[in-house]
Amino acid sequence: PLSQLQRKIQELDGRQYPCYKDLAGGGWDVEKRAMTVFFDRVQGDSYAPPSWVRVRVPMAAAGFLAAYVSQSRIRNTALCDYVTRVLSDKLHGGDGTDWTQTVKGGGWASSKGGDLQIDTPGQYVLERSSVVANSEFIEARVTLSLPARGRTIEGYRAAEIVGGLCDAVEGSLFSKALDATALKQHIEAVEDQEHLRCQLAQLGLVAFVGNGAVLPRKSGVDDRPMTKKDSADLVKFESPSSMEVTVSLPHAGEITGMGIKKGVTVIVGGGFHGKSTLLQALQLGIYNKVPGDGREYVVCDPHAVKIRAEDGRSVKCTDISPFINNLPFGKATTEFTTGDASGSTSQAANIIEALEVGASTLLVDEDTCATNFMIRDEKMKALVSPEKEPITAFVTKVRPLFNDLDVSTILVVGGSGDFFAVADAVIMMDEYVVKDVTQRAREIGKKSGIADGSSFGKVSRRRLCKNGLAADGKVAARSLRCLQYGGTEVELSCIEQLVEISQARAIGDALQLLGGGFAVNRPMAAVIRDLEKQIQAEGKPVGIQGLDTLSHREPCPFYVMPRRFELAAAVNRLRTAEFAP
Ligand code: ADP
Ligand code: MG
Repeated sequence: PLSQLQRKIQELDGRQYPCYKDLAGGGWDVEKRAMTVFFDRVQGDSYAPPSWVRVRVPMAAAGFLAAYVSQSRIRNTALCDYVTRVLSDKLHGGDGTDWTQTVKGGGWASSKGGDLQIDTPGQYVLERSSVVANSEFIEARVTLSLPARGRTIEGYRAAEIVGGLCDAVEGSLFSKALDATALKQHIEAVEDQEHLRCQLAQLGLVAFVGNGAVLPRKSGVDDRPMTKKDSADLVKFESPSSMEVTVSLPHAGEITGMGIKKGVTVIVGGGFHGKSTLLQALQLGIYNKVPGDGREYVVCDPHAVKIRAEDGRSVKCTDISPFINNLPFGKATTEFTTGDASGSTSQAANIIEALEVGASTLLVDEDTCATNFMIRDEKMKALVSPEKEPITAFVTKVRPLFNDLDVSTILVVGGSGDFFAVADAVIMMDEYVVKDVTQRAREIGKKSGIADGSSFGKVSRRRLCKNGLAADGKVAARSLRCLQYGGTEVELSCIEQLVEISQARAIGDALQLLGGGFAVNRPMAAVIRDLEKQIQAEGKPVGIQGLDTLSHREPCPFYVMPRRFELAAAVNRLRTAEFAP
């Protein structure tokens, strides 16, 4: 039997496209099904971005345990993430019909549109706006490209699709429709990971890698775990015994793995022995993963930031003097500004900016570093006098970074032993097997004389100005690499800890917030802290609702929570932004 909503949509058949707007407004209760459908944003024609549709189910009918919904934020996040995945499967043909198929091609008057999409998650369990739950209701947000032939509404087809959506919701937003064991496992796995990450600080660690973890991925473009099928050489992670730590988790019980202590840790090893793979797993240790990912027990300091060189980026009024001084022609480095940074100046700026907003661990890989920023060997010092060299190499700053600012570093170096003298721990990757070579490296390192007495210098405190923050036109996340921001583009490709395009979308809208009514003309750190506070705010009743404040009016179906470091990184790369000392 058709619902009243479906009959209404059928009645629109044959009418002009804008009549779809009749659906917008207060919400359509679906008879015999405890759900209400909202058409939040209705597109004006079939070529426009798809409409936003929301389906809400009262919690009393959905029947999820209060222990999942409102006991803790992490459980709520895991629940919503799980429901998103199930709903996405249903829309993608779980029941034989793929509602995400769009009709394209043919002439102008052929059937167009019709696809139903939900923001589909990858390997990470993140706070997302696709499904939101609180003690009163659970709701899913999807996009629907309303079908038409030319400008003529295809009411019968639209009604059928909306019916399909309601069926999919029936099979995903109700506790009784779900696999209770799988849901419980998902929530517990995520809760364990969160718990593990939260324990790091009190254990004096900045990272932990569980024994048995699968670090390598299927390929450079496929984030799923490598399997024996992909590579017969797959080696699972095993900690060297000297670094083994055992941690107790609420659900999994005791697990053992490698603990990386605060301080300076260097990862060495021959080329292709798995150094970067380990570091990449660590840099994504800020996020929780789905069960089966292989990196469930790979966690790191939530305030860890990947640092790399990024020549060509713009830098605004950043004090990079701890690293760079005496540029040719007396160019100041205490308020360093350029539209085209070099490898070393960009890397210095990346570090200072990360510290500015509270990074407590830096992750560095030689593959993406400017060599002249990292080290300077004796021969070069003999040839180019230190007074002529603007760069104070990272190797002489990495200890002061820890001693003065309590900022740890984990870095991959295969080509230089200079870091041995400043490392607290040195681990070697040998055919994907980790070995603790700290003792041996320390003996070798003694011979080189890197001064440890120097201080880091001051960390930039710039004010973010109002000017240039507003977008003069459309804002859209084109991909994970690039954000269109009005007439300018924000380059995101070197912000390696962004994992979903919907994080970029949230960041784009957060920038717009800064360009709108948000209080700026204050220190960057304070602005970003308040921005983070707003988007992470919990709603009443409990449920994450801060993200919704990024959307101008209706709740956006595709936001994923970014960290403050990635928010700041985008502001720092916005070429129109202005800063003052
Ligand atoms: P490095 O940085 O030391 O040069 P990478 O981390 O880039 O090495 O790894 C080289 C290759 O080895 C990559 O293709 C990666 O997928 C693969 N690899 C890394 N770790 C493992 C492992 N534990 N088991 C199997 N293959 C691995
Ligand atoms: Mg490498």
